[in-house]
Amino acid sequence: MNTRNAYALRARQTRQVAPFGLGAAHRPLPVPEGVPPHPACATLPERVCRHALADRGENARLNAREEAVKGRFDAIVPLLKAISALQHHTDFVERAQLLARQQLGYALPEDILENAWSNGLDVKALYSRCVFQALLLSAEEYASDYRSKNGSWQDLHSFFLDCGFHAVDISPCADGRLKGLLPYILRLPSTPFIRRKAYAGAMFDIETDVRQWMAVELSRYREGVPNFAEAGTRYLKIAVYHFSSSRPHHEGCAAHGSDDSAAIDAGLRRLLEFRQAIENSFCCGAGTDILLIGVDTDTDAIRVHVPDEEGNLSASRYVDNAALYAASLGYGENEARIAVHQAILDAGASRPHEGMRRLVANLLINNLSQIEYVAEYYGGRYPDIGHAERYISVGDGFEEVQMRNVAYYAHLQTLEEGLSDMDIGIKIFRHLMGKRGLPVPIAIHFRYDARVPGSRARAVSRTRGVEEAIRSRYADLEAAGLLACHLTVQDMPAGSMIEEIIDEDHAG
Ligand SMILES: [Zn+2]
Repeated sequence: MNTRNAYALRARQTRQVAPFGLGAAHRPLPVPEGVPPHPACATLPERVCRHALADRGENARLNAREEAVKGRFDAIVPLLKAISALQHHTDFVERAQLLARQQLGYALPEDILENAWSNGLDVKALYSRCVFQALLLSAEEYASDYRSKNGSWQDLHSFFLDCGFHAVDISPCADGRLKGLLPYILRLPSTPFIRRKAYAGAMFDIETDVRQWMAVELSRYREGVPNFAEAGTRYLKIAVYHFSSSRPHHEGCAAHGSDDSAAIDAGLRRLLEFRQAIENSFCCGAGTDILLIGVDTDTDAIRVHVPDEEGNLSASRYVDNAALYAASLGYGENEARIAVHQAILDAGASRPHEGMRRLVANLLINNLSQIEYVAEYYGGRYPDIGHAERYISVGDGFEEVQMRNVAYYAHLQTLEEGLSDMDIGIKIFRHLMGKRGLPVPIAIHFRYDARVPGSRARAVSRTRGVEEAIRSRYADLEAAGLLACHLTVQDMPAGSMIEEIIDEDHAG
């Protein structure tokens, strides 16, 4: 049984009952034995709460996207099973294409179908072609949506600038459960203003980030983008750790041994070191703000560690958004907004600057919708379904497909650099794919900067080099025809076209 569908089904059934929340007294109902009550909505799983600030229209839109992307991958195996059963019919190619168009929305490679009569249907080749097609279609859908919203970022950019920030640099943990951090958990669009780069345990590389800081500041001095250096705005660095409210000692951050305090302390230390590095290297006035956010990967509820007036953070001073959701259920919109702002003031020993307060309030309010999203579509907590990734993403990763558990990511420039991540990924996929005799789909993707002479050629050569290294390291899979690599490069600006690199030696 598909656990995820079961949750969705149950969530749909619960909608027939009047929801708790607006104007209703909050009356907790008994929860099944062994399951701790949901931290935000105590009436789950019987009924979903309704918070005045949750955006249900946006939740429905995001759910449709999640269903479409995951559905596109999940439809492949049933389709291949169905056409495999037809391969000895005289009109096989026509019937297979008809089914593919109906169930996948695109046609299959004609050459593979036409050769089926003599060599049998090459299911492995079809499978990998379909996985990469699903990936490209999902990315293209996102990119066209992104391009169509081009103008609406201006509001977001103005909002950040109004809050006193000219750049936002976010480093979450690389855990697959945080892949939906921007579009889902924090409800922030991908824009040139926000940089996101994941590291195991959120342990971002200080040197890399200082270089990023320098690039941003230089662009302000030279071009006035996004504003001139005299503007007095700040660079905001955010680290995002994660924890599990239902199984704190087992399902927390693997990089910190599921020890939440270790994850928090390490994140805090790294942020302070980053700020210190900027101050030591570029003297005073080199304004940076730091912020630490925690995500409960069971419910997607966040904690925001609120800075004090000096901009300092503490492990114990934070706003717990699940608690805030529960406390402000039944409030009207204005009352709920006031509760959010009050929670921020109550969290700190002293008040952070006004822009920081506005930003934190915005993130908390956005996340109230995500808490309700998980409540509505997953019964409050993501079911523990283990690894269900559809492909391994190697290199820079696709900005376009940011969704929980869709891909296993190995961020690297050379295979040596990300060897342990890659070995873990291959191990997971040996288990996921091996038992079905299907190849491991590996999408190798690098970005280049078209403004820099030779950058594209170097990205293409890096992509090919990583492919070669993967094929030689996992030689047993390669020999068995169980490695399917897909090579792409992409220009830097968000929403740029994804360019496939066709390697004649490995085509098909
Ligand atoms: Zn982690």
